[in-house]
Amino acid sequence: MRITIHRGTHEIGGNCIEVATDKSRIILDVGMPLFNEDREPHDSTTLRRQPSEELRKTGVLPNVPGLFDDTGRRPDAILLSHAHEDHTGLLRHSQVEIPIYASVGTSKMMQAGAKFAGQPILPRDRHEKIYAGQPVQIGDFSVTAFSVDHSIYGAQAFLIEAEGKTVLYSGDLRMHGRKPGMHRSLIEAVKDRTIDVLLMEGTHISHTDHRGPNEYELEDEITAHIQSAPGLVLASFSPQHVDRLVGFFRAAKKTNRIFIADAYTAFVMHLIASETSIPRPESTKEVKVFFPKFFEQTYEKKRLESFHALMSPARIGMEEIRSNPSRYVMLFRPSMLESDFGGSLPNGSRCLYSRWTGYLQQPEWKMTKAKLDEASGDLIETHTSGHIFYEDIIDLVGQINAKMVIPIHTFEPAKFSEFSQNVKLLADGEVLEMK
Ligand SMILES: [Zn+2]
Repeated sequence: MRITIHRGTHEIGGNCIEVATDKSRIILDVGMPLFNEDREPHDSTTLRRQPSEELRKTGVLPNVPGLFDDTGRRPDAILLSHAHEDHTGLLRHSQVEIPIYASVGTSKMMQAGAKFAGQPILPRDRHEKIYAGQPVQIGDFSVTAFSVDHSIYGAQAFLIEAEGKTVLYSGDLRMHGRKPGMHRSLIEAVKDRTIDVLLMEGTHISHTDHRGPNEYELEDEITAHIQSAPGLVLASFSPQHVDRLVGFFRAAKKTNRIFIADAYTAFVMHLIASETSIPRPESTKEVKVFFPKFFEQTYEKKRLESFHALMSPARIGMEEIRSNPSRYVMLFRPSMLESDFGGSLPNGSRCLYSRWTGYLQQPEWKMTKAKLDEASGDLIETHTSGHIFYEDIIDLVGQINAKMVIPIHTFEPAKFSEFSQNVKLLADGEVLEMK
């Protein structure tokens, strides 16, 4: 068995890994890089539009035989660990004959992301469902998926076996989500086995002293911020982050406020209604649905007529929100500022910002802050990472006890050597022969 990390050995995002035998090849993730060589964030909207030739020239598209072009034999499959673009973003450049293995949760998040946020499409005719704990055979490989907790619904780790060797790919994961049972059962499943190679994400490997709250502690924090808010609460988080969605919904409920989903969030709630504790927006008094103007103008083109009709009984308009602002916690995005709020927020609005702090430097967020100031409101950061904390990496790597640990999804791979003797550092494109 051979492993080649085409991208991801020295950066966060853009994962693309090949695992091969003489007869079979599988690709783990086809991610869009998040940063350029100077570690400045890429403009994802630009990269999304660029043609393959351009991306090949600039090195965004890794050179993997038969994956993005027809030179060389095609890989047998692409496996997606989760629906974030730094793992799926290059999918549209891949050869259409290659099947794509992903969880049902990932396909749902991709469906929502494609309809509402310009994210990659998972073509239905290429999708092969992969269920946690049920091994699938792909050429020489037996692949078993495990549900893992990450800042998006449906994330999986993969255990890959062939030729008597075993590789575990963590994908992106953490141990401080709402379902700690997930990492416990992963550990339980692999701890008595020989893992030859662990491909381990290390997003937070350099934040040795940082430990944020878990999702339950964060829910308490959010509840307190809503409790003390005088007016409308604007909630900024990714609807695909279902843990966070549940947290905000519950916090709203505990403070006797109604949670207002936007169309995108309502669509996610609709897709996962049978799998979570949050109610269907159309059949509860605890949730209202706000249709932003942009959605009203585009839902037919997006073929969301039946969803539009289904959600109509739960709809709420801006007039009602403005007349009773302190009754609501409303999903907010900066694009609503002008088109839906007409450039002015209700007095005393509080924005609870629950995303990566770096985005606050973007012009749309600077504008939001200015509008909050004008309305004598405020913005509070209340967030926890989707990635495993430093101490938990040590714990997890220790418990899995692999013969070889290869860092991925990190800017500081060498830091793994501080706590593990078995670290092997690879360069992008370097082939590791497992003997
Ligand atoms: Zn990632």
